[in-house]
Amino acid sequence: MKRRDLIKAAGLAAAAGAAAATTPAHAAKTIRWKMVTTWPKNFPGLGTGANNLAKLINEMSDGRIKVKVYGAKELVGALEIFDAVSQGTAEMGHGASYYWKGKSRAAQFFAAVPFGLTAQEMNGWLYHGGGMELWEEAYAPFGLVPGAAGNTGVQMGGWFNKEINSVADLEGLKMRIPGLGGEVLKRAGGTPVLLPGGEIFPSLQSGAIDATEWVGPYNDMAFGLHKAAKYYYYPGWHEPGTTLECFVNKKALEALPKDLQVIVRNAIRVANQDMLADFTAKNNKALEQLVNQHGVELRKYPDEVLQKLRVLSDAVVREEAEKDPMTKKVYDSFVAFRDQAIQWHGVSEQAYLNARTLK
Ligand code: CA
Repeated sequence: MKRRDLIKAAGLAAAAGAAAATTPAHAAKTIRWKMVTTWPKNFPGLGTGANNLAKLINEMSDGRIKVKVYGAKELVGALEIFDAVSQGTAEMGHGASYYWKGKSRAAQFFAAVPFGLTAQEMNGWLYHGGGMELWEEAYAPFGLVPGAAGNTGVQMGGWFNKEINSVADLEGLKMRIPGLGGEVLKRAGGTPVLLPGGEIFPSLQSGAIDATEWVGPYNDMAFGLHKAAKYYYYPGWHEPGTTLECFVNKKALEALPKDLQVIVRNAIRVANQDMLADFTAKNNKALEQLVNQHGVELRKYPDEVLQKLRVLSDAVVREEAEKDPMTKKVYDSFVAFRDQAIQWHGVSEQAYLNARTLK
């Protein structure tokens, strides 16, 4: 080392020492992360779920990590967040894994499968049934570590301007319904349309689409969908327990001290549980408002329609699984878990829910 470098190094060490003496040790090295999301900024449930997660990480780490949340289009577009975090433009992304079908077909199984798992069952599969390990395997090629970061519970079936009394009523219907559910609608004779959240209301109002699904009463009312359609159908057979996700850039995560890595992973897990609680607490109040104040006509899909959609769904999902080995691997695990969940929940959740409303 040259003398000048030695002096410079000594000066830096002295400066660092002075900083340490006047501020708490961790405050000197606050880690600043960016979280990009697919949701409109502060959107109820989904966007606020991302905000809550950022706040939780800040609090749990006592301010050692500060996460700034960006709504869709603030830093990158809604559907660009996967690449942005993979490339390190942001450290975290908050979305839903079925948006990344083009990157990983298997990813769809970690968000929502028509006639698939409920929220409770998804968590069972992910945390204690091998699902999480498969999800990590699916995202590893992209340098991403996934986490379940929220759940909507069973969604609603959608908004229509005519009654659905038979499968024939779905024929020719132009409906905004993404993913595997959209493929099922196509086989039932309808035309699925892909639209991001922000374009749903104007498209329904102008008649560019005949029908739409979105999430559930709490979110749908926020979008004003009741102003553009009269009939509100249930249940959301296509999204029975949609899991939201938070993925983290693997290099950024592994560069953190061990305790902060544990904090980030567990904050995501707390957020997962909290979003379901939020929807569970708020959906029915919103539904009452829709029906009692806005005159929405609540309808249940006829059993005949649901049965037909279930048969079509099973075929669509099975065919999807045959398209590549990773998707098949995830499908096999998912279906085996669903089969045993149907058995167990037949004598527990389902039996109890039926008993609770016996007349
Ligand atoms: Ca939906």
